[in-house]
Amino acid sequence: MNATPAKNINAKNTIGHYINGADVADAGRSMPVTNPATGAVVRQVAMGSRATVESAIAAAEAAFPAWRNTPPAKRAQVMFRYKQLLEENAEEIVSLLSEEHGKVYDDALGEFNRGIEVVEYACGIPELLKGEFSKNAGPNIDSWSEHQPLGVVAGITPFNFPAMVPMWMFPMAIACGNTFVLKPSEKDPSAPLMLARYLSEAGLPDGVFNVVNGDKEAVDTLLEDKRVQAVSFVGSTAIAEYIYATGSRNGKRVQALGGAKNHAVVMPDADIDNAVNALTGAAYGSCGERCMAISVAVCIGDETADAVVGKLKERLADLKVGNGNDPSNHMGPLVTSEHHAKVRGYVDLGVEEGADLVVDGRDLVVEGHENGFFLGPCLFDNVTSDMRIYQEEIFGPVLCIVRADSEEQAMQLIDDHEYGNGTCIFTRDGEAARYFADNIKVGMVGINVPLPVPVAYHSFGGWKRSLFGDLYAYGPDSVRFYTRRKTITQRWPAGGVREKAQFSFPSNA
Ligand code: NAD
Repeated sequence: MNATPAKNINAKNTIGHYINGADVADAGRSMPVTNPATGAVVRQVAMGSRATVESAIAAAEAAFPAWRNTPPAKRAQVMFRYKQLLEENAEEIVSLLSEEHGKVYDDALGEFNRGIEVVEYACGIPELLKGEFSKNAGPNIDSWSEHQPLGVVAGITPFNFPAMVPMWMFPMAIACGNTFVLKPSEKDPSAPLMLARYLSEAGLPDGVFNVVNGDKEAVDTLLEDKRVQAVSFVGSTAIAEYIYATGSRNGKRVQALGGAKNHAVVMPDADIDNAVNALTGAAYGSCGERCMAISVAVCIGDETADAVVGKLKERLADLKVGNGNDPSNHMGPLVTSEHHAKVRGYVDLGVEEGADLVVDGRDLVVEGHENGFFLGPCLFDNVTSDMRIYQEEIFGPVLCIVRADSEEQAMQLIDDHEYGNGTCIFTRDGEAARYFADNIKVGMVGINVPLPVPVAYHSFGGWKRSLFGDLYAYGPDSVRFYTRRKTITQRWPAGGVREKAQFSFPSNA
C-alpha cells in the first residue's frame, strides 16, 4: 500500500500547531521529519515557543467553563461521531503514521484501532461519571460524591505510538469534561494533528483540544504553567522521572509512564512452537520499538533454550524487512538515524560483553532503500544479568536469551530488574502460571500471551521505574486521574424546624 499524502500535510509544509480549533502556522524554530524507510526529509515540524504553548493553554482555559457544564451525554455524542470519522479516515491517518514512524501498515492500523477502542470506552462517559448518593446520611441530610473535571490538562507523548498513546489520554480527559493540550513527539507529528482536526469535525468546541508541537521548551512551559492542572506523560524513564518531579513540584497531578525491559519466561513444558511464534512477533514487531516488546526470553533449562534458539533462528531467516508501505514486509526501519546508531551500538556492545550473537542483522541492506534506517533482527544467546544489553532498554529488534535453572530463578531476575512494565510466561502448567502471575513484581502479566496490553476498559501501567505516579493510563483509572472527587452534604430543614447550635461533633450515635 502506498502512503497517501493527507490533507494539508506534504513535503513542502512545516507542520505547525492546532490551537482553538484551527491550524496555526509557525515560522520559528523547526526540525526535520524523516521517512525512516528512505532517509528523506518529508516535512518540517515547528518547535513551539513558550508564547505559542501559552496561547494553547489560554485557549484550553477559556473553553473549560462551557465544556465542563456540557452534559456528559452530549460529550459522549462527540465521541460517537469522532469514532465514526476515525474509522472512515483510517487509511489516510494510518498511512501517514506508517510513513513517519516506519512501522508496517497493518501494525500501524493495529495501534490506531487500539486507540479507537479508548474512544469507544469514552462514549460510555455518562455511566462512568455517575457518582455515589446516600439519602438520609443524617436527619434530613443527603450526601453524595461526584467526579469533577480538573480543568486544563496536558499530554506529552513518545514517537513509538504516535496515534495510540495520545488516544490513551485525550478521549477520556475530554469526555470527563477537561480541556487538553497535547505535545506529541517531534519525530512523527502528523497523525496527532489529524486526530485534532477530526475532533473539530466531530463537533468538539474550539479550544477543548489543542496540539502544540515542540521540544523541551514546550514541555517545560506545560510543566510550569499554573493553569495546567495535570500532566500525563509516556516516554523514556529519564524524562518520565523529570516530568514527574517537575510537575509534582509545581502542584500538578502527574502520571508518567517510562521505559521497559520485558521478560518472557519459557518453561520446559511450554508449547515451544507457539512460544517461538509469539516471541518472534513480540520481540521484532514494530522493530522492537514498543514499550511492551519482549526484549528478554528467560528459558528454563538448556534443552528449552536450545530448542527456542534453534526455532527462532529459522523464523528470523524468513522475516522480511523493508518499507512499511509494502504489505509483504513484517518489520520496517528504526525511527531515526540517531536511534539506528544507538541500537546498532548496543549490538556491538553485546558482542564485546561476551554474549553470543547467533543472528546478526547489522549488515542488512534493503534494496532500493539504501539510505533507510534498517537493522535486521538480532538474537543474542547466553546473555547474563551483569551485561548492559540485559540491563538497559535497547528499543530495537534485539532479543536476549538468558538461560536459567528454574521458574524461581527467572522470577528473581525479573523482580531484580529496574523496570516492571510487562512480562509473560509460556507454560502448560496452571499452577506455575498462577504462581507467576500472583507474585511477579510487574504491572502487566501475560500467560501464554506475549503482549498483555490491557483492553480499553482495563488500565495500562507498569511497576517500579516503568511508572511514576499512582494511576494507570485509560480504563477506570483514567476517570480517577482526570477528575477530582467532591463530596457534598446537604440539608433542607423539613416543616420549618429550626435547630439550635450544636457543639458536639455531629454523628448518628
Ligand atoms: P522520549 O522520552 O525521548 O520522548 C517522549 C516525549 O518527551 C516526547 O514528546 C519528547 O519531545 C519529550 N522530551 C524528550 N526529551 C525531553 C526533555 N529533555 N525535556 C522535556 N521533554 C522531553 O521517548 P521516545 O524516544 O519518544 O519514546 C520511546 C520511549 O518511550 C521508550 O523508553 C519506551 O519504553 C517508552 N514508552 C513507554 C510506554 C509505557 O507505556 N510505559 C509506552 C510507549 C513508549
